[in-house]
Amino acid sequence: MIGLRTLSRNARAVSRRMSTAMEESSSGYGDRLSPAQAGTLLDIGIRDIFDSDHDMFRESARAFFENDCKPFHGEWEEKGEVPRELWKHAGDLGLLSNMVPEEYGGLGLDCKYPAIVWEEQSYSGCTGPGFAMHSDIVAPYITNYGTEEQKSRILPKLVSGEWIGALGMTEPSAGSDFANIKTTAVKDGDDYILNGSKTFITNGWLADVTIVCAKTDPSKGAHGVSLFLIEDGMKGFVKGNKLKKMGMKAQDTCELFFEDLRVPASAMLGPVDKGFYCVMQELPQERLLIADMGVASAEAVFEMSRTYTNERKAFKGHLSDLQTVAHKLAEMKTDVCVGRAFVDQCISLHAEHKLKSDQASMAKYWCTDLQNKIADHGVQLHGGWGYMWEYDVCKHYVDARVQSIYGGANEIMKELISRQITNPR
Ligand SMILES: Cc1cc2nc3c(=O)[nH]c(=O)nc-3n(C[C@H](O)[C@H](O)[C@H](O)COP(=O)(O)OP(=O)(O)OC[C@H]3O[C@@H](n4cnc5c(N)ncnc54)[C@H](O)[C@@H]3O)c2cc1C
Repeated sequence: MIGLRTLSRNARAVSRRMSTAMEESSSGYGDRLSPAQAGTLLDIGIRDIFDSDHDMFRESARAFFENDCKPFHGEWEEKGEVPRELWKHAGDLGLLSNMVPEEYGGLGLDCKYPAIVWEEQSYSGCTGPGFAMHSDIVAPYITNYGTEEQKSRILPKLVSGEWIGALGMTEPSAGSDFANIKTTAVKDGDDYILNGSKTFITNGWLADVTIVCAKTDPSKGAHGVSLFLIEDGMKGFVKGNKLKKMGMKAQDTCELFFEDLRVPASAMLGPVDKGFYCVMQELPQERLLIADMGVASAEAVFEMSRTYTNERKAFKGHLSDLQTVAHKLAEMKTDVCVGRAFVDQCISLHAEHKLKSDQASMAKYWCTDLQNKIADHGVQLHGGWGYMWEYDVCKHYVDARVQSIYGGANEIMKELISRQITNPR
């Protein structure tokens, strides 16, 4: 396999050359096909937002998920977690946290490289490794709000996969209503003492470092929240059971408890009482990655449904010879290509730090609804086989369901979008 880390080192120089060439070219990106024009929606070498370096990166990411994840995913589903060695292997290949600046061990790349990892993981159907949470949610918080000591100590370990990261916001009685979280962090001399709990925490079981939201000033609601870096093994930090889920069965999700957990003030991430502002800044990228993974899953489901209905014999022909089936495929392809166009626009904007929060919310809500719709059609087209766990379409179907719930439920996305319509910036 080509080393992603080596490829990535060259990527910045090449991308600078590409930008210059594009500025000089009146036709823009040249002759890359759009997904709608390509042989399959998963072809390598398509989509205007990427170039040949991205394609090489994609080939390696695809090989990693196909060879190093797919054959073992069933075992990981049984265990409810993926092995730690996988994280180190992914780190060696430059697949983890590759937006982290070079001085902290990363590659300092823009979001198009992690987008390739999100997409290839979704194409493979291997939802077990919680890489996106680790690399593109947790690491950016530390990069953007960490002290020099926090960044230089923790980020290299996240990049290498030696440490695994998680984010604890949700509590049993507060998900969408973030302002209502009950976990407190009370100042005691130079320390803070945390009490409370979190639930549904992705990577929570395996995590070495978890960013925990706690109230430092409960009288101020969301404006009295601070963030803390809580490390595995701290006295008073207890991990609950791994939760049994409808889908994403190989991804560990668990409860966390803080019982008089004493941490030094240096464990605070970002300014006191400003945790909510940090969260607001980071959410667009989280929502974009969920949207991108959603469209990628839909692309994969379309392709597996196309293949299946072309091969499945019925009524003296194949399923796809039936007009109702062919038209369903036509609708699916059209819907997925429309979604892809919007998400690619969002990825490009985000790579230039121009993605607006409400646009990320639009992508998150629309693309995860699309993902669920396409997964439903895909299962239907596979008939009874679509209901069998051994068929990838079945896993895509159950894995899709949570996408419209986490990262901000889709109902909340509509609220955020509508606020910008009725009360524009
Ligand atoms: C597999 C999985 C992984 C997760 N990973 C993490 C993680 O790593 N870290 C983390 O902190 N959290 C995580 N979560 C939690 C997730 O973000 C929350 O479940 C989500 O924010 C919804 O909160 P809730 O479950 O409390 O539902 P509620 O907030 O109780 O919502 C229930 C329903 O009511 C609707 N609703 C709520 N408020 C409104 C409103 N104002 N207007 C209209 N409708 C509304 C919601 O849209 C939803 O349909 C995860 C969840 C799951 C299932």
